[in-house]
Amino acid sequence: MVRLYQEIPMTLFEKIIARQIPADIVYEDNLVLAFRDINPQAPIHVLIVPKRVIPRIGEATGPADQSVLGHLLVQAAEVARRLGLAENGYRLVINNGPDGGETVPHLHCHILGGRLLCWPPG
Ligand code: AMP
Repeated sequence: MVRLYQEIPMTLFEKIIARQIPADIVYEDNLVLAFRDINPQAPIHVLIVPKRVIPRIGEATGPADQSVLGHLLVQAAEVARRLGLAENGYRLVINNGPDGGETVPHLHCHILGGRLLCWPPG
């Protein structure tokens, strides 16, 4: 994967994509990577991230981001199916900014399932 801005430090998730940091990878294609969250909040908790960094959903813009985000959501559903979550259901979450609980500035979608998830979220 070519990085356009070499002077910007790699995000944690870029290091996972580059196999510099280990992760339990459950799905990969040319646009996205999905791996198990290191601090799971449900029996199944997977993160799916675009390989090309978009810092957060609030900064997504233009047709290229639209295309990768559409793919990411479709593949999130496919990963959920493969992990056996289709029948009982699951939740997709994208945290944006401090109040949203975002801690890693590399857009990612949480796939949570395997238990009843309460609403509203905390
Ligand atoms: P967020 O708070 O939405 O930015 O989500 C970041 C997520 O990344 C959290 O759920 C963390 O548990 C998860 N996380 C942090 N470091 C790692 C790692 N090395 N491998 C897998 N997940 C991680």
